[in-house]
Parts: sequence; structure tokens; C-alpha cells
Amino acid sequence: MMIRTIQTGWTLVSSGVPDRSSHRWKKAYTGLFQCRSKRIKVPVKCFYVKVNGHSVLIDAGWSREVVEHGLRHLGFGLWFASEPVMAAGDEAMAQLRGERLDAVLMTHLDCDHASGLHDISGVPIYTSREEVAFSRKRKLRYGKLAKGYDYRYLDIVADSEAPFGQSCDVFGDGSITAYLTPTHSAGSVIYCVADSDGFALVLGDNGYMQASWQQGILPGPLYNADNMLRCLGWINEQSQHPDCLGILCAHDPRNLNITE
Ligand SMILES: [Zn+2]
Repeated sequence: MMIRTIQTGWTLVSSGVPDRSSHRWKKAYTGLFQCRSKRIKVPVKCFYVKVNGHSVLIDAGWSREVVEHGLRHLGFGLWFASEPVMAAGDEAMAQLRGERLDAVLMTHLDCDHASGLHDISGVPIYTSREEVAFSRKRKLRYGKLAKGYDYRYLDIVADSEAPFGQSCDVFGDGSITAYLTPTHSAGSVIYCVADSDGFALVLGDNGYMQASWQQGILPGPLYNADNMLRCLGWINEQSQHPDCLGILCAHDPRNLNITE
């Protein structure tokens, strides 16, 4: 397998986003009533994966629209909570020029993951049915960026090995499995990429950095705190498995690439 990290710029957020214990107010991650100069800059990443003949992008990062029209593209609410920083050519499709792309697999539909879908056409976009339903209910959180795509739903079935008992074998060959994780949002998934060399997990926002799962640090934006803690524990267990090649998350300051 090959997993290449593609950084599509940065986002300026409250320090309550990666670690909710950094503020007393539980909604501090929104950045409301905080000095903007104290914001922290976190990378916005997506992942290009080649495994068993499939070439896919997991999440889409920021769109090229963000470079010049960030406020208009995101709308004020999303722009305020997670102001993008991006240079021309940072978008995933520019960095993937000349590469094959069979599908986009979404971990969830928050703006910093779905914005880049704007730049992509002609390939199926997979997400969970639960995430699409949730994004339609939470208009403030998702804005307009998750709308207007003809999503293919992951065919999620019962799976006793999955952390929350439900998973989808995306291509039917065991190479990429989506685990439903109602943690960061109702329909978030973790993708497990596997071949004979081992496996790697792509977490989306189930954790913002290695310390998230190693120390059980709860991030700010949460759909279900108990589920997130349980999920971080599961990720930590997986990270210690001898076949684990790496754990990748969308806002990790480390840059991890996997080539086996
Ligand atoms: Zn994110």
C-alpha cells in the first residue's frame, strides 16, 4: 500500500479544538469571545491511497476557492470558526495532477474535509448515510459545503470486530474498511487500509494528534464524548498492534507517509 499525506493549507482555530480541556467553557472550540490573535494554526490534510489496484482520496481538504474567496466559499459562520490559510496550488487536485483517482472516501462532511469536493468531478464520492442525514440537520455546523453532491452511501453492516459494531468493506476485497464511529459527528467513519504488509488507520477527526489517543485527550467538537473516549482507546490499542503501519489524522502536526 501507499498512503501519501496531502496538506491543503491550514486553519486558524481556538486551542479548544484539539484539546477541549484547554478552556473551561465547553463551546470554546467555536472561538466565540476569544482573542483571534491567540488562535492556533493546524494543518488541513487529506490522504491519497493506493491499495490492491484502487487509487482513492480520503477526504478532500480545502478547495482552491479558499485561496481568494474563503469567506464567500465558506460563509461567515464557518469562516469565523475555522479561518482557512491556503496558497495557490495547495488544493489536493493540484497536488495530485497526473495521478489516477477512482473515488473520494469521506470520513465526515465538515467544511475542512468537504470543501475540496468543489474541485473534483467525475469520480464517486462515498460517505455514510448517517453523516448525510446529520449534515442536513446541523445547518450551522455544515453550512452549504456538504450539499449538492450525489453521494454514494457506504453499505454499512453489523461487524462484531468493529469498534461500534458496524462497518463497510468499501470495495468488497478487504482492502479498505470503513468503521462507523459516532464520535465527532453522527456519521463519522475511520478507514482501515490493509494489505499483506499490514494496516493503517485514517481517522478523520477522531483525534487531532498522536497524544489524542495515547493520552485520551478529548477534542473540542464532539457529537458524543463517551463514544469519542472509547474510540480513542480503541485507536490506541490498534496503534500497538504489530501489523499497524501508521495512524493518520487530518490535523496531525506530524507528516506521515506510508510506502510498503
Ligand atoms: Zn477537521
